[in-house]
Amino acid sequence: MSDPQAAPVAVLGGTFDPVHYGHLRPAIELLEALGLSQIRLVPGHVPPHRPQPRLGAQARARLLETAVAGIPGLAVDRCELDRSGPSYTVDTLAGLRRRLGGHRPLCFIMGRDAFRGLMQWHQWEALTRQAHLVVMTRGGDAEALPPALVEWMRPRRMHDPAALRRSPSGGVLFQAVSRLEISATGIRRCLALGRSAQGLMPDVVWHELASSGCYGYPQVSRASSPGRLNPHHV
Ligand code: ATP
Repeated sequence: MSDPQAAPVAVLGGTFDPVHYGHLRPAIELLEALGLSQIRLVPGHVPPHRPQPRLGAQARARLLETAVAGIPGLAVDRCELDRSGPSYTVDTLAGLRRRLGGHRPLCFIMGRDAFRGLMQWHQWEALTRQAHLVVMTRGGDAEALPPALVEWMRPRRMHDPAALRRSPSGGVLFQAVSRLEISATGIRRCLALGRSAQGLMPDVVWHELASSGCYGYPQVSRASSPGRLNPHHV
């Protein structure tokens, strides 16, 4: 794992409450566009400033594993769930850096919205010591980045995905992905109203959700495969 030219490994963190195509499709696009060897989807405990997730952490991770099974290059990494309490991204990246060794290119993927608030993150300047930042842009991103962030980014900016392989960390790359108007918030709202969310996530995930009665959606029994998901299991 110490070949400096090896394809980068990437991390996509999130709550995944629940996972949906808005997570999976951009990840698949980034795998291809950036020539990544793998994207590790890291379900997290929820940061204190957000409402707590409706589904327990282990159940969210299980659904995520169901979602990525059979998608080459995507894997679930439970490292944040193995630590108690909220996890800081900088610690997650440091842990992965230890596992990968110092030379392997590592990328941290984030949405442009999250990137706008980067300077509020715990030890934000240490993030690029561990990884490159890959900022997903979706057509229609309008809000300007804070000037101080633009200034910080200037010497780190990469314009060519090939540059990710030339160093283990330190760059900032913007990469366009498809805009899919899907959010976990919208899905939870839909389910709480008793409406189906089928089509917004892989069918196998939908069936697992629907048969478990999570998010307030009426439990749908499945004769062939009873629901395995315990929504209260954390
Ligand atoms: P919530 O609605 O609960 O805030 P979410 O659907 O935004 O959740 P998260 O788990 O918070 O999902 O997102 C994890 C990552 O996936 C973030 O980097 C986020 O920017 C990205 N993401 C979420 N939805 C989409 C989407 N529709 N298209 C592209 N990226 C997305």
